Amino acid sequence: MHISNLTAALALAVTLASCSSPAPTNTDNSPHTRDVFAMDTYMSMKAYGENGEKALSEAEEYIKKLESDLSATSPDSCISRVNSADSKPTEITDEAAEIIAKALEIGKKTNGALDITLYPMLKEWGFTTGEYQIPKTEAISRILRNTGFERVQLSGNAVTVPDGFQIDLGALAKGFTSDKIMDIMRKNDVSSAIVSLGGNVQAVGTKPDGSQWKVAVRDPFAPDTDMCVVEIGSKAVITSGNYERFFTGSDGKNYWHILDPSDGFPADNGLVSVTVIGDSGLECDALSTALFVLGDGKAQDYWDANQGFDMILVTDDKRIVCTDGIADSFTNMSGMDAEVLSRD
Ligand code: AMP
Ligand code: MG
Repeated sequence: MHISNLTAALALAVTLASCSSPAPTNTDNSPHTRDVFAMDTYMSMKAYGENGEKALSEAEEYIKKLESDLSATSPDSCISRVNSADSKPTEITDEAAEIIAKALEIGKKTNGALDITLYPMLKEWGFTTGEYQIPKTEAISRILRNTGFERVQLSGNAVTVPDGFQIDLGALAKGFTSDKIMDIMRKNDVSSAIVSLGGNVQAVGTKPDGSQWKVAVRDPFAPDTDMCVVEIGSKAVITSGNYERFFTGSDGKNYWHILDPSDGFPADNGLVSVTVIGDSGLECDALSTALFVLGDGKAQDYWDANQGFDMILVTDDKRIVCTDGIADSFTNMSGMDAEVLSRD
């Protein structure tokens, strides 16, 4: 694995962009659009072509269904039934089972950095209600005894968690949702569509003029401004950042919503944001959270050992590290240095 400066790669990207003139694939240039508030997130969807409106309506309906299945805070969801099942097996939907299977897989591959049993800890910090507090040490120790993703059992569509354990799929649900929206687009023969679920973006095809989608990633040090733009085709671009949900404690420190399962505190291992780019929204979402927890060095090691995705890391000392698969389609708009990570 080695790191090089981005300048050379960027120069190449600019040259390629000016040489290529993609053929138009769709002549209908006016998008159908839909905004939905669900899963505690503003979602905006854009679909081009004659079936766009129908596809968006189907997508909206499906988002509402997923929300009512997956929300840990709504008492009727299948996740809430799991959380109050007193260690008995609970039958869940196919969708919830697929997400939990992925969560357990990535939990295992990241040595527990992704842990869907942190829900009681998230509640204790107030991240589920907005009534924030820094928990007492005793509360953290007590709750940590009732966490650990490896204690979740999934057998077909039946899930069992030990008494006192509670799960939450917040780290992966939006990526799964954008995968399903893309499936709905394809099923309706929409070949050009893009969605943003609270800044997590996924696209189908290209823009109607045949060019790539330009996706902005926010600057974690100035979240109202864009740090960089990546150009993508049918990909997901999913970010986890410490600026997304946080509060300032009475000690003047910021505490954010991504917790380190090893100590129950906000993960603070050298990264302030992680963007994962790949084909599967579910996988990218799981990884963005897990790599954020792993921190700078271990996130790079994970990428080195696992294929199938690219990433943009931003470190707390203001460096950008992006992997070589997206270096050519990455434009740095920040004052930070960007380095390229390669596997050789
Ligand atoms: P994301 O924005 O995708 O990184 O997901 C953050 C959400 O995942 C939080 O709001 C929590 O609901 C949940 N969460 C926080 N820390 C973890 C963790 N280490 N493993 C799994 N889920 C987590
Ligand atoms: Mg995530």
